[in-house]
Amino acid sequence: MRTVIVTAPGNVAIIDTPVPVVGPYEALVRTELACVCNNTDGELVGGKFTGMEAAFPFALGHESVGKVARPAILSKTA
Ligand SMILES: [Zn+2]
Repeated sequence: MRTVIVTAPGNVAIIDTPVPVVGPYEALVRTELACVCNNTDGELVGGKFTGMEAAFPFALGHESVGKVARPAILSKTA
């Protein structure tokens, strides 16, 4: 899958990453549209978002829509 990554303050890249492994109570969503958030993503890319100043690299994409590709399993397996 394609992922927008902030590699360092001021540096953004689009890279191929593995499809995430989902656990109990999580769903896998196939993103159909993603946007850059003017406020939060600007602070994240600039290294100024509180608590994320040293978290590089990380993925952007908190404003996106898509279809559920794998529904959540709502019971834990033994
Ligand atoms: Zn936002």
